[in-house]
Amino acid sequence: MPDCLFCSIASGEIPAKTVRESPRAVAFRDINPQAPTHVLVIPREHYPDLAAIAAAGDGVLEELATLAHQVAVDEGVADGGYRVVFNTGPDAGQTVHHVYATCSAAAAWSGRPDEDRPSVPADTMGGAWQNSASRRC
Ligand SMILES: [Zn+2]
Repeated sequence: MPDCLFCSIASGEIPAKTVRESPRAVAFRDINPQAPTHVLVIPREHYPDLAAIAAAGDGVLEELATLAHQVAVDEGVADGGYRVVFNTGPDAGQTVHHVYATCSAAAAWSGRPDEDRPSVPADTMGGAWQNSASRRC
């Protein structure tokens, strides 16, 4: 799709700090990270949002989840736990209209007292999570 930032990143037209790739997906560090690490996972093919990629039903959504997990393993947060979030639609803070998964984890606080951890409800959507000081992978 013309003028799509993530299509341009997927094709290599716009350089990105790629951390992992699979046949139909690319994982790269966000250009404006909200924390020490912050990785987005996108399909190479253009799907505007989660609804579109879910409707495709051809395994590409599973490939995104698999790649996100591999990134978490690479980042050393897989054992402690991490989350994979799809911000879908304007009310959920989807900033680029090419579906993306954000992989994040709170492992940055390991070794620090629990009192230092900001309160982030387990069911928080991406917005509050992004605004916290949490580590993202
Ligand atoms: Zn695109």
